[in-house]
Amino acid sequence: MPATVVVVTSVGPIEIAVRASPRASRVSLKFDPADDGFELVVPPRASIKQALGFAQQHAGWLAARLKDLPPRVPFAPGSVVPILGQSYWIRHFGDRGPPVFVKDGELLVSGASEHLARRIQDFLRARARAEIVPRAFALAGKLGRKVRRVTLRDPKTRWGSCAANGDLAFSWRLVLAPEHVMTYVIAHEVAHLAEMNHSKRFWATVDRLMPDAERSKAWLKRHGKSLLRYG
Ligand SMILES: [Zn+2]
Repeated sequence: MPATVVVVTSVGPIEIAVRASPRASRVSLKFDPADDGFELVVPPRASIKQALGFAQQHAGWLAARLKDLPPRVPFAPGSVVPILGQSYWIRHFGDRGPPVFVKDGELLVSGASEHLARRIQDFLRARARAEIVPRAFALAGKLGRKVRRVTLRDPKTRWGSCAANGDLAFSWRLVLAPEHVMTYVIAHEVAHLAEMNHSKRFWATVDRLMPDAERSKAWLKRHGKSLLRYG
């Protein structure tokens, strides 16, 4: 099996990683907006020729994924990074000083420039933790439930999760979204501490914690992908 195949589309040739999957039952295509990557999943009973035929049939789908992809925003001088709805310019400050600090709408980063991107990500993760953890505990308190632990991750397909033992996990990238969006995701996962499903009662619980969740859900649907494009 080759490592990649190339499909010609209306936006040019697209290279697709090939992955043989013993568990897959049919050929499928996957797209990861975090790194513009496509993957062609090939089950044991399909040939590479069949899989390539499938990918070619979906040339339009491949092109569309790339077309509606939000622009990538590197953590680099000149980039603008939103933090809870406010925009900040990234500027390299100099060799000495605190690693990252905020002043007059700028994110000033000191130290060697090759560490700038990592420093910004560390800063944003720390900020996300400082924003998310107290909100999670406060909202859980409203329901009389206990949060066991809050972990920050960088998942590609979900913004938060709740385990039966009371562990919550969130994407640090929520700090790049408006505050109501971050609060909604926290309220959603905290509500799962009381209702481990998406029933009417679950949504009534979310509404108690955070009215007008629809607005935040709509924002995530429309702009959520853009959060994966930073850094
Ligand atoms: Zn849920």
